[in-house]
Amino acid sequence: MENKFKFYNTLSRNVESFIPHEDGKVAMYTCGPTVYHYAHIGNLRSYIMEDVLEKSLRYVGYDVKRVMNITDVGHLSSDADTGEDKMLKGAKREHKTVMEIAQFYTDAFFDDCKKLNIKTPDVVEPATNCISEFIHMVEALLEKGYAYVAGGNVYFDTSKLEDYYVFSSQNEKELLVGVRDDVEEDANKKNKNDFVLWFTKSKFEDQALKWESPWGVGYPGWHIECSCISMKHLGEYMDIHCGGVDNIFPHHTNEIAQSESYLGHKWCNYWFHVNHLNDKSGKMSKSKGDFLTVSLLEKKGYDPMAYRMFCLQSHYRKPLEFSFEALDNMVAAYNKLVKRIADLKKDGAVEQERFNEYKVKFEDALASDLNTSMAITIVYDLLKADMSDATKFALVEDFDRVLSLNLTTAKVEKPEENKAVDAELENYILAKIEERKEAKKAKDFAKADAIRDELAAKGIMIKDTREGVIWQIQ
Ligand code: AMP
Ligand code: ZN
Repeated sequence: MENKFKFYNTLSRNVESFIPHEDGKVAMYTCGPTVYHYAHIGNLRSYIMEDVLEKSLRYVGYDVKRVMNITDVGHLSSDADTGEDKMLKGAKREHKTVMEIAQFYTDAFFDDCKKLNIKTPDVVEPATNCISEFIHMVEALLEKGYAYVAGGNVYFDTSKLEDYYVFSSQNEKELLVGVRDDVEEDANKKNKNDFVLWFTKSKFEDQALKWESPWGVGYPGWHIECSCISMKHLGEYMDIHCGGVDNIFPHHTNEIAQSESYLGHKWCNYWFHVNHLNDKSGKMSKSKGDFLTVSLLEKKGYDPMAYRMFCLQSHYRKPLEFSFEALDNMVAAYNKLVKRIADLKKDGAVEQERFNEYKVKFEDALASDLNTSMAITIVYDLLKADMSDATKFALVEDFDRVLSLNLTTAKVEKPEENKAVDAELENYILAKIEERKEAKKAKDFAKADAIRDELAAKGIMIKDTREGVIWQIQ
């Protein structure tokens, strides 16, 4: 098929035409979540944009097989193989077993994905399902001389590679040689960047999940999971590997090192990385503890679709700063858009020529390094264009196969209708109204006004009437 689709390949540092190994088919792999806590909306930015990539490829005609792992063992609190296993940390925090934690947060992750219309990959494989595959790869790496045993652990020997820092430019490589200076030294490592393939010894003897291996009872390193799980389901050649930018080093660098040493040939041609969602204090991260989840957004009255649209309105390669003000603007834009679409008259004939003309524009936007905000602009453009409502509706319905914003199915709220609010929000509003009443009684009008403004900033309008205070969410 014609390979018109282009996107930025982190490996070549260029926007490239995408040419898969097998004509018309795409083997795609996504690093899945570490299921020791809820996914935050930053993690979900990565999964939303990867979902759009997958759906775009399907939309332009590729047959995609997408695989994702679930990290339920081996991801330590530092990406450089030090610290405690994140899963064990989660289990201790909640006084549950590691497997209970894994099951709970895996389910929670897929619930969030469902709310955000993120399609479940064709294959989802927890790391703990593949222990024999990991052991096999570690044995092969030892046999080929790419790995060594030291202090009970098996390490990958990065000095055996001509080019370990595959993602970096020449200048960056020089800087990266000393990159792990801040990391706790592991005296067993021959080289600073060597990484663990199999642990039998760690400071944390209470590791819950352990398996027999030729090197003793232990557990796999984090990086080996993705190499083995992808090869198990996609074979020796992969087309696209995805993740957030924080995965580039060391995770993806190490995946390439061990996979290509094992296979003896190039493994994956295209690397797709999504930049971070930040809040005012910096990168949103699970380890910081204080983070935003989809459920929290819902509790505050936000439709998850507004967050999906917020992500789609910015380019995946740019950092994105989250704020409630920006999300509020997106809610207003989203509601207006779905209202306009709902007002279209669906009966009548579709003008095929106009339909095709806009479809080409939409495909071009996606094929230009996944320009999702341009794709949404095309939706606005077509709504203004001179063509039948039926054509417009058919186009929006078709584009929503990729955008997945429920553009033709969202419930449109009537303006006079008070928004459905949950009990928690209602209690909050009533408490604020009461507080304002008290302030007024005490003649503290500045405080009363401040409370009214605080509510107004959240879109909650209050009005004093003879019957008392009435409120409405706008
Ligand atoms: P984890 O569950 O920590 O293994 O991360 C799951 C995915 O989310 C990975 O692809 C990360 O690269 C990505 N990720 C982590 N933090 C962020 C963030 N703040 N913004 C976007 N993606 C992120
Ligand atoms: Zn991975």
